[in-house]
Formats: sequence, C-alpha cells, structure tokens
Amino acid sequence: MSEYPPETTPGESGRLKGVIKDWALANGLTVRPPPSLHSANADPAGILATPVSLTLFPSPFPRACFDQAATFQKTYNKLYASISQDEEFLARVVKEIGDSDDFITELWRVHLRVKEEGYVQHKCLGLFRSDYMVHQDGAGSAPKIKQVEFNTIASSFGGLSSQTSQLHKYLASTEYPLLEKSIKRGTLQLPANGSAGGLAAGIRHAFVEYGTPSTGYQKCVIFLVQGGERNIFDQRHLEYELQKYEEPQVPVFRLLFSEILQCTSLADGLRRQLLYHPPEFPAHTFEVAVVYMRSGYGPGDYPDQSAWEARYHLERSAAIKCPTVLTQVAGTKKVQQVLTTPKPPSSPSILGRYLPDEDSASTSSVRSTFTNIYPLDETTAGVKARQIATDPELCKGYVLKPQREGGGNNIYRSAIPAFLKSIPEAHWPSYILMELITPPAVKNTILRNGNLERGGVICELGVYGTCVWDQQSKNILHNAQAGYLLRTKGDQSEEGGVAAGFGCMDSCNLV
Ligand code: ADP
Ligand code: MG
Repeated sequence: MSEYPPETTPGESGRLKGVIKDWALANGLTVRPPPSLHSANADPAGILATPVSLTLFPSPFPRACFDQAATFQKTYNKLYASISQDEEFLARVVKEIGDSDDFITELWRVHLRVKEEGYVQHKCLGLFRSDYMVHQDGAGSAPKIKQVEFNTIASSFGGLSSQTSQLHKYLASTEYPLLEKSIKRGTLQLPANGSAGGLAAGIRHAFVEYGTPSTGYQKCVIFLVQGGERNIFDQRHLEYELQKYEEPQVPVFRLLFSEILQCTSLADGLRRQLLYHPPEFPAHTFEVAVVYMRSGYGPGDYPDQSAWEARYHLERSAAIKCPTVLTQVAGTKKVQQVLTTPKPPSSPSILGRYLPDEDSASTSSVRSTFTNIYPLDETTAGVKARQIATDPELCKGYVLKPQREGGGNNIYRSAIPAFLKSIPEAHWPSYILMELITPPAVKNTILRNGNLERGGVICELGVYGTCVWDQQSKNILHNAQAGYLLRTKGDQSEEGGVAAGFGCMDSCNLV
C-alpha cells in the first residue's frame, strides 16, 4: 500500500457514500438531523435520523501511542478517583479559579451545602475519557501521545464509537478490497473497540454497588439529559447495552435536567433515597441507584436558581452520582494545569500525592503524556504565561482555556492577546494557557451531510475508563479501561467536537 488512505475514483466514492449511509442508518450510527438539513416543520413527530459524520477510511494512528494511551487509562482512573477524594486540594483549586467564574463558584456552593449536612452516599461512579493527540516535534522525530484534556462529566460518543469501529471493519472486509488502489482483506490493523459495552458495564457496576433498595421500590438508573439532544442515539446505545444483561434487570429512564424537581423526591427519613416518579406511569415509583449525567456540565443547564436547587437535591441524595460535584471539579482544566505545572526540584510533585509510587513506571507514564500548561496568575509560572499570552508572536503556539466543557469555549493562537485585553485582568486566573500539540499530517475523506470533503485531517484519540470508588474508605471497587474514540477534524479547524459540527467519527488503523 503506497498511499493510505488511497484516493478513490468518483465512482468508488459514490459507492462508498451509499454503503456507509445505509450501514449507518441500519445500525444506529446516527444523530437527529440538524435544523439545516430539513425545514422547521418537516419532522413534527421527531422520527428522522441521519448518519453521523464519518471518515471513509480508518485514519492511520501510531500503534505505540495507541497502546500507551490504552494502558495508562486505569492509572488515570485511579488518579482522578483520588483527586475527587481530596476536598482540600479541590477547594484550593476553586479558590485559584476565583469567583469571577460564577459557574464553578455555584457548583462548589452545592458541594459545601451538602458537606455541611453530611453526604449519605460515599460511592461514586466515573465514566471518564482521556483525550490525546499525537505530538511530533518535526518530521522524523518519534511520535508521542499527549493529553488534550481529561473528561469527568458527560464524556460522549462511547455509544457510537464501537459502531464506527464495526463500520470500518465491515468496509475493510467488503469494499476496500474492490478499489482500484485496493486494500487487501486483513491488512488493516483495526483494534477491538468495546466502548458502548464497556461504559454500560461501568454503570452496571455502580447499580450493583448501590445494594438493595431500602424503600421497597425497585431500583433504576436515570440518564439525566438535555432537551433537544441531537446525539441521542449515542446515549441510547448505552441503554441498550445495559439491557443485554439478564440479571439484574436495569430499568433506565431518561430525565430532563430541567425536570429533576418535578419528577423526583427524597424519601422521608434520614437516608435521603432519591425517588423517581415517571410521569407516564403514575402507578410506579423507583428508587434511583445511579444518576448518569449527560447534562449539567455547563451554565446553559442552569438558567436560574431552581436549576442549582435541582443539582443540590441530587447531590444530597443517596443515588450514586456520575459524577459528583467533587468529581466534576476534579475534571476542570485548572486541575489538569496544576498536575502538569513543573515544580521546583526540591518540592514534591502534586502527581506524587495521588500516585504515591512516584517513580513507578505507571506514574512516569502518566507524566509523559503531559504538555506544558500554565496558570495566568501572579506566580512565577503565571507571570511567564502572561508574557507569552500577550505577545503577538509567542501566543501562536498556545490555546487559552476557560473552565468549561462541551466545545466552542477556547481561544486559539493570535486571538489570545486581544481576548485577554477585553476582560478584566482580575479574571485572568480563571483561564489556563496550554501549549498546542502538533500532530503529524494525515489525509482522509470525511462524509458529512451527504457530501465528501477530502484533505488534511487532525485526529484526536479518546480512551474511556470506568471507575467505582468509595470516598470514605478510599477503596477502588471497580476500575477498567472501556474502549476508545477517534475523532477527526479538518486541519483548518481549531475545535474538534463532533456534536458541535466540527469533527467527525473515525477509528484507528494502527501503523
Ligand atoms: P472541551 O472541554 O471544550 O472539549 P478541549 O480542551 O477538549 O475542550 O478543547 C477542544 C478542542 O480544541 C480539542 O478537541 C482539540 O481539538 C483542540 N485543542 C485543545 N487543546 C489543544 C492543544 N493543546 N493542542 C492542540 N489542540 C488542542
Ligand atoms: Mg474536549
């Protein structure tokens, strides 16, 4: 194979387009169509689905980098479980972010209120995703895996990602061998990807750990979601995976974040069991064992104080949360920066506090994935970062990030100095400055809304992990790696979110 992925003839592209489109629709590799695809009143019953954006071929990805990222995941799970247990450290981080960040401030207030009355649930569920890019200093140098961010809330696309791997496997078997620049069957190295099943298994572990419901009601899992979710099938696949277990049966309900207070209550007594009253089935009540949040990660879900009351209501309940407020705060970019910032040789590293065997292979592996990230405060590192961020030349190698999730919030390269000038200097410490990772050039073709776009692409690997732990005993009750995600975007785009419309789904051909 001289060139990979190969150029295809117009006839071949058309054929692949048709095959992918039908496979995607037949197998639920789909999203709800964006409004741009149909007129406002064309789908009043909400029955339409469309293939998610996809690459025609699995992108080449360095095997060594892939294997490392997969191997590190369980250490990362443990690291973030430990950080979630360190309330004092997180309190300091929140203080450093500062009260100019209303969202983090309010979130922390929820934790403080529950702390005051005492938590009734000490078990936590993490469905994590650690995101990476391959970094190459220059042509010829060895590629290294570098972390973009670590997600502790609403890590998406695990439901669609295993499907994407299946699609590419199918094409490798049926279509690629027929191309003029043919790819022989069995020559692509396509790693197994059990992301949907793996994430569902994590939820199931927490469901079992919850134990026997004490109210006498049957227990259930709540998927806490946003209204108008277009990426619903990604979430549905996890539900369907959960139903593959014979025992225990895991009833799942989708609940809008905005309807928490209407549809749930706390049981009388001191144990604060969370009860779910499905509005469609007034004769039934469930005791909620697990709340899996696919919402609540950004200010948009908290339009007023009652939304914060709803989050507090959940947080103080006995349901196992994925995530708790503490785990959500552990996933802030500020925490990532604090872990990364080099310490003077005399003082112990923060990482060493959570992974006590500092010199062990797994701890140094985790450290090897770090890229330089700086605070924008008045510390020595912060002052250096302020110089970089306000310099029209130096800033070109960096991205500025606020404490937000979900895409579309970062400020890139030359836009950084003007942006900083536009906000009060007192707010700067709520941002972090991160060196840009520069991945090697890869080509591929993206099928988006029925159109093909061929060109340079940038790939971002996400590795899923599931973890159940006890905040009080600090015991890890379950820890597993759970498949992967490859997201690919055109190399002219800064942001890579698939749901945000910039990126697309992909899988790895290990090289
Ligand atoms: P979010 O929480 O909004 O997903 P991320 O930190 O993941 O924020 O950044 C969004 C996107 O920006 C990433 O998916 C990636 O494409 C790009 N990006 C972020 N940090 C870097 C970096 N250090 N180098 C290169 N690209 C980056
Ligand atoms: Mg991200």
